[in-house]
Amino acid sequence: MAHKVCLIRGDGTGPELVAAVEHVIKAAKVDIEWIEVEAGLKCVEAGKPIVPDATIQKIKEVGVGLKAPMTTPIGKGSVSPNVTLRKRLDLYACVRPVRTLPGVPTPFDGLDIVIFRENTEDLYAQIEYMATERVAHSVKMISDFGCQRIIRAAFEYARKNGRKKVVGVHKANIMKIADGLFLRIFKEIAAEYPEIESWDNIIDNQCMQLVTKWKLYDVLVTLNLYGDIMSDLAAGMMGGLGVAPGANFGDKCALFEAVHGSAPKYTGMNKVNPTALLLSATLMLEHLGEKKARDDIEGALIATLKKGVKTYDLGGSATTSGFGEAIASELKA
Ligand code: NAD
Repeated sequence: MAHKVCLIRGDGTGPELVAAVEHVIKAAKVDIEWIEVEAGLKCVEAGKPIVPDATIQKIKEVGVGLKAPMTTPIGKGSVSPNVTLRKRLDLYACVRPVRTLPGVPTPFDGLDIVIFRENTEDLYAQIEYMATERVAHSVKMISDFGCQRIIRAAFEYARKNGRKKVVGVHKANIMKIADGLFLRIFKEIAAEYPEIESWDNIIDNQCMQLVTKWKLYDVLVTLNLYGDIMSDLAAGMMGGLGVAPGANFGDKCALFEAVHGSAPKYTGMNKVNPTALLLSATLMLEHLGEKKARDDIEGALIATLKKGVKTYDLGGSATTSGFGEAIASELKA
């Protein structure tokens, strides 16, 4: 029976990336019934909400989605479609695996880390106001519930996937109450997983250690803003935004997406790298229990990269569709 998956084609370069990924998945012979749902700039331009209610309802009903990047309209009052989806679907765990890919040169040989970023609270709660005419307040909102579920998700992931270490990342030396709450809960939950080595690091030290001692780290769990910044740092270590995948999990649904945005300046140029969205789709296949298809696609991707077929960001001249076609040919070989 076909897996039902909601598909958001996205804005900017999104539709080109989706076309390449669809082509590869088809070549891997996975039976997927794509259910197209709309969100993003296109909706705003058509006078609709940036994420229509029908889209939220459909993703809730189907439970799984693949999302190309969307453009956040610039201007007062504009909300991010991405933040809206995460909030309304309660996708509290943003999971970003970063690892070196054969064929993608990086000085960080042997990098293999999974970052768990809390996705619904922190400064992203967007509670902001002018306290006086000249002073702005932005409220950092952290709850015990929010900390518990992301920290437990990280430890459960480590247990299920044979990962040996979980490190909690915070700034509790300065934000003693908000980050202090995260740290206290991290230590409480860590005690329930004695087989997993755990310790905590302050975010600035963690960033420094990521680029000096990356082999020491396995699973990292952190608050929303630190996770946002740290996962882009890690994406750079992996070889750039063109290759960094991601997934958002809630208790009822999961939405898979690349770390990067809609790269609007390359729209229609058939130029950007579909690897990040393709690897996000392989995380989706794993979630759907399609492990063989996941392995086949990863193998074909690596074989393609090793042959030197690469898009511009990795120093090559392949187009988006050409790169997808090369991977599909590997799968058929
Ligand atoms: P961006 O990630 O879209 O692009 C930044 C630069 O990274 C690009 O100019 C390009 O040089 C490179 N890049 C990105 N993706 C690439 C790919 N697949 N292959 C090769 N190179 C790639 O960031 P931005 O320009 O700051 O944001 C553009 C829009 O995307 C904004 O509206 C922003 O709000 C939105 N955005 C969306 C998401 C999302 O949908 N999850 C994430 C970040 C930004």
